[in-house]
Amino acid sequence: MATAIVGGEVVDGDVDVVDGEIAAVGLPGPGAGVAIPGLVDLQVNGYAGHDVSAASPDELLELGAALARDGVLWYQPTVVTGAVDDMCAALGRIAEAVARPPGRRARILGAHLEGPFISAGRAGAHEPGHIRDPSKEILDRLLGTPCPVTQMTLAPELAGAFELIEELVRRRVGVSLGHTDADATFAHAAFDAGARSVTHLYNAMRPFWHRDPGIAGAALVRDDVVVGVIADGIHLAGEALLVAWRAARHRLVVVSDAMAAAGKGDGIHKLGPIDVTVVDGIARTWDGSLAGAARPLLDGVRLLVTLGVPLAEAVAAVTSTPASLLGREGIAGLRPGAPADVVVLDDELRLRDVLVGGSPVG
Ligand code: ZN
Repeated sequence: MATAIVGGEVVDGDVDVVDGEIAAVGLPGPGAGVAIPGLVDLQVNGYAGHDVSAASPDELLELGAALARDGVLWYQPTVVTGAVDDMCAALGRIAEAVARPPGRRARILGAHLEGPFISAGRAGAHEPGHIRDPSKEILDRLLGTPCPVTQMTLAPELAGAFELIEELVRRRVGVSLGHTDADATFAHAAFDAGARSVTHLYNAMRPFWHRDPGIAGAALVRDDVVVGVIADGIHLAGEALLVAWRAARHRLVVVSDAMAAAGKGDGIHKLGPIDVTVVDGIARTWDGSLAGAARPLLDGVRLLVTLGVPLAEAVAAVTSTPASLLGREGIAGLRPGAPADVVVLDDELRLRDVLVGGSPVG
């Protein structure tokens, strides 16, 4: 490779891999392409025809293999709002997948629970009938399966939400605000209480308005909040993405919000309990709401770069920044001595090779 992204910087030269580890960077190389760390996706609802909320452990492994072929080497399988029993069953299946040998696939960081404590008025593609008021008893059930839960998206304006935020912080589950109608006052209070991020900024939340900036305005002005965005070219206009990047350039996380059609193609797919129709790569519910995305995460890097974001920063938004949000700084770097989880791109940022522990993904 001509360059590599190492520690958030562009380093000239090739990367050497020995015995599954990065041995050195900055070596004389072929003069083309760029090596970046394996991608980290905090929001994967489905992939390659499989819906996370319904997938068997074997299907989750297939899903992880498909993600890895597209450059994602770590992910949070994201369980959307459903019946609590069904959400717990999905978590049980994810736990079984976690217990299997990882192989050359995307590995599971822990589950992301998107719901059920969200705003009915900002439900997007979540099934309104399964939305619940914040409840410690339901939370205990969701966190009581063998599956590690690393993140929960909730709406802070719901009665009882602050008790849950406190409990989640105590149990070291990352709190992300989303699918919410919160105004800026509620948002600041929730961030002060320990919420650390927002889920898909702008989408499924009170819109930013100059006298009512909502959760989007609060998140963009706070240096202690990580801002998640869907950069698939459909969920957000380029200007909205650029506003987020300019306000939060070192705390921006791009997620795929992928659903089953990603890596598979158009057709009818499931998103939790809901049927989703995907036409020309755009996923919608029966009423026209966007229902997750159908594009690989790497497309978001290319889109940001096209908009003028420096490559190293676009790469950080899908590698080191999401990894550090979860306290997993070690998983997404090309430092000498680190496992050789490497994504090789050509000069047009198209995927050329993916290595897991130095071995190519099939
Ligand atoms: Zn969502």
